[in-house]
Amino acid sequence: MTKNIAVIKGDGIGPEIVTEAMKVLDAVAKKYGHTFNYEQLLMGGASIDANGEPLTQETIDRCKASDAVLMGSIGGDTTTSPWYKLPPHLRPEAGLLGIRKALGLFANLRPCVLYPQLSGACPLKKEISDKGFDMLIMRELTGGLYFGEKKTEEVDGELVAVDTLIYSEHEIRRIAVKAFEVAMKRRKKVTSVDKANVMESSRLWRKVVEEVAKDYPEVTLEHMLVDNSAMQLVKDPAQFDVMVTENMFGDILSDEASMITGSIGMLASASMNETKFGLYEPSGGSAPDIAGQNKANPIATILSAAMMLRYSFDMQEEADAVENAVSKVLEAGIRTGDIMSEGMTCVTCSEMGDRIAALI
Ligand code: NAD
Repeated sequence: MTKNIAVIKGDGIGPEIVTEAMKVLDAVAKKYGHTFNYEQLLMGGASIDANGEPLTQETIDRCKASDAVLMGSIGGDTTTSPWYKLPPHLRPEAGLLGIRKALGLFANLRPCVLYPQLSGACPLKKEISDKGFDMLIMRELTGGLYFGEKKTEEVDGELVAVDTLIYSEHEIRRIAVKAFEVAMKRRKKVTSVDKANVMESSRLWRKVVEEVAKDYPEVTLEHMLVDNSAMQLVKDPAQFDVMVTENMFGDILSDEASMITGSIGMLASASMNETKFGLYEPSGGSAPDIAGQNKANPIATILSAAMMLRYSFDMQEEADAVENAVSKVLEAGIRTGDIMSEGMTCVTCSEMGDRIAALI
């Protein structure tokens, strides 16, 4: 198969970690007889320096013309970088929001996996972390409380602030479909998180999710209230496969879930639209403190590339090969500085990429 991949290396550690993900993709292409064509594009700080703005129409158009986007991270040191003296709409992060909007990316997928080899980094009790976990949180990204009408006004002599939580059937349906499609490629369980005991938007959410579930008889659906979900994540995370929820609940729960894995350099993510198109990037930022030192952990970006193979290109075997190579490298005691522990071998960013690529 031939696939055209738009590559946004970005700022800080971005170029280092994306280079390693491309190395692994090249190893996949060689082994499985695919051709991956890369087109490098600018966004964030790099685009501000070259074009005076964080996101150009050219970058948007080239991304739209590609099969998927692989991205590093954008932004710099927010206290010292001159990018942060610019007005907010010209700062690096504006590019990130702009590209998600321009590409219609409404579903954010964050896998949270506790590798047995890294269970020591998990802040939960040993009897819980020993079981390991492998879940994927799917958060609705473009609707709900963050985008509904907002106002602050004076009522009877005091200020009153209002945020509106609004969801339409089609917004719920399209993310529910995505959740069931993803569950079909995993352990076939969907937990839909809402607050249907008190919120009208959650009652509609639950109704639409149940309608969508009828098209996926192989997938087990359960509903869980958001407060209980927050507790279950720390009590028994192994019970979850795909968790799907609205924007604000997802914002909070996905951070809670990533925290219990214990290591930011391991967390992949994807943002998708209705089609198979997606933008794949690590969950962490541009880590200006270690940029340019060949110290960053490239695994989150490599695992994001594996998600691209699985969800955008339908290359299940190839995605498994990347994920298995990551597991084997960890098994062999190879670590970057951020996940280093006693008795293990500390390697650089590029050595980690070499080791994983060699195991494809
Ligand atoms: P950060 O995630 O960049 O760094 C937090 C800590 O985690 C740092 O100590 C860093 O060294 C470490 N870290 C992060 N990724 C790592 C990796 N792959 N390997 C090893 N260590 C890693 O968060 P921050 O410091 O709050 O933000 C720095 C910049 O990144 C800011 O400009 C911020 O706006 C931007 N940012 C970008 C994105 C994105 O591109 N999607 C996301 C978050 C933050």
